[in-house]
Amino acid sequence: MKHILIIGAGFAGLWSAIAAARRLQETGTRAQITVLNRDAYHGIRVRYYEEDLGNTRVPLRQVLDPVGVKLVVGEVTGIDPGKRRVDALVEGSPRALFYDKLVIASGSALALPAIPGLAEHAFDIDTHASAMRLQAHVRQLAHAVRRPGWLTAVVVGAGATGVELACELPARLRAAAQASGIPDAEAEVRVILADREATACAQLGGARPVIERACAELGVELLSSVAVKAISPDGVTFDNGSILPSSTVVWCAGMRASPLNGQVSAKLDASWRLYVDACLKVKGFDDVFAAGDAAHMLIDGKMPSVMSCQHARPMGRFAGQNVVNDLIGPPLEPLHIDWYTNIIDLGPWGAVYAEGWDRAVRSEGEIAKQTKTVINRERIYPPLTGDKAAILAASVLHIQRPPSIGR
Ligand SMILES: Cc1cc2nc3c(=O)[nH]c(=O)nc-3n(C[C@H](O)[C@H](O)[C@H](O)COP(=O)(O)OP(=O)(O)OC[C@H]3O[C@@H](n4cnc5c(N)ncnc54)[C@H](O)[C@@H]3O)c2cc1C
Repeated sequence: MKHILIIGAGFAGLWSAIAAARRLQETGTRAQITVLNRDAYHGIRVRYYEEDLGNTRVPLRQVLDPVGVKLVVGEVTGIDPGKRRVDALVEGSPRALFYDKLVIASGSALALPAIPGLAEHAFDIDTHASAMRLQAHVRQLAHAVRRPGWLTAVVVGAGATGVELACELPARLRAAAQASGIPDAEAEVRVILADREATACAQLGGARPVIERACAELGVELLSSVAVKAISPDGVTFDNGSILPSSTVVWCAGMRASPLNGQVSAKLDASWRLYVDACLKVKGFDDVFAAGDAAHMLIDGKMPSVMSCQHARPMGRFAGQNVVNDLIGPPLEPLHIDWYTNIIDLGPWGAVYAEGWDRAVRSEGEIAKQTKTVINRERIYPPLTGDKAAILAASVLHIQRPPSIGR
C-alpha cells in the first residue's frame, strides 16, 4: 500500500492529513496516511498570547482517528528525499519511516538570536508550554519580592504577536498587583513594547495609528530604535547603554521556519522556507510537498505567503488534496488567494481589522474584537464532534472568504 507521510500537525499538517483522507475516499484510493508530530496535540498557536489558555490544544486522535489517519508521536531528526526516508525519535528510540509522498508541515519557531541571557531569562509565547510558563510567572509575581521592575514587563518585538501580548499584560499585571495585597502596588505596573525599528509597529501599516491609540489608552509604552544587548533576571540592557529594570521580558521578535527544511534543499528563503509551486510541491522534488510556515509560495501569484494560520490552513488543504492527486494521476490543483486580512487583538481595548497588503483599517474596537473572537474560538478549529463526514467536509478546497466585520 502507498504511504503518505505528513510531518507536523499544526494548521498546515492537520488540514493536509484531513484533505488527503477526503481525497482518498472521493477517489476510492487505498493508501496509508501517517501524521508524525512531536506531541499528541493540534496546538491553537495563535491564541498563546491570551491569558485563558483553556482549549488551546486539540487532542489529535479526536480528529484523526475518525478519518483513519495514523498518528505517530515523535521528533523528526532527519529527512532524506533521495531515499524517501524520514528519521524520528519515537518514545526515545530511533525509527525510520518510508514514504511515497511527503508533506512537510513542520512550521516555524521563534528565532532566538545569540543575545546574552535571552535563552535563560526571557519568556515567550511561541508554544503552549512557554505560554503556560509566562502565565505562571505573571501570576506568581503577586508573591515575589518587591524590587525595581517587579511589575514591569518588556515585550521585545512590535509585530502583531508582540502587540497582542503587550495589550493583554497591563490587566494581567494589575491582577498580580491586587493579589499581592500591597496597597500601592498597581502604581508600579508598566508594560513597554520595545522594537529596534525607528517607528514601533511600522510593519503593521495602516493599522499602526489604531494600535498606537489603543496602547496609549491601555498604558502600553512604545519604545523604538532600541536593540536588546543583554537580558538578566533584573531586566534588559539596550545597545544605547540604558538599563530597564524588569521581572518579565518576553521575546516576540520573529519566527523562522523549521531547520528540517535545510535537510531537503539548500534553496531556502530568508525565513528558511522551502520554495513551493502553486500546487504546494517543493520546487525540484517530485515527491515532496510543503505547506504553512515551512513553505514559501506566491499566494496570489505575486506576493509570498505570510507565515500565518490564515495561509497555513488553505495551503494544508491543497497540499493534502494534491499529494493524493499526485499518487493517482489527475492534475494537481493550484492555490490562489486574492485577499489578505490582519486582525490584531488589542486586549480590553478591542481589536483592529485591516485589509490588503497595506493594511487599510476596516473596523476597530469592539466590532473588530467580535471578529477576532470568532476567528480564535470558532473559525480555526476543526470539527470536534468525532463525526467523520463533518471532519472530511471541512477540508474541501473551497477558499473561505475574509471574515465578516463584526459577528
Ligand atoms: C502568539 C502567536 C499569535 C499568532 N497570531 C496569528 C494570527 O492572529 N493570525 C495568523 O494568521 N497567524 C498567527 N500566528 C502565526 C501562526 O500561529 C502560524 O503561522 C501557524 O501556526 C503556522 O501553522 P503551521 O502548521 O505551518 O506550523 P505550526 O503551527 O508551527 O505547526 C507545526 C507543527 O509541526 C510540529 N513539529 C515541528 N518540528 C517538528 C519535528 N522536528 N518533529 C515533529 N514535529 C514537529 C510542531 O509540534 C507543530 O505541531 C501567531 C503565532 C503566534 C506564536
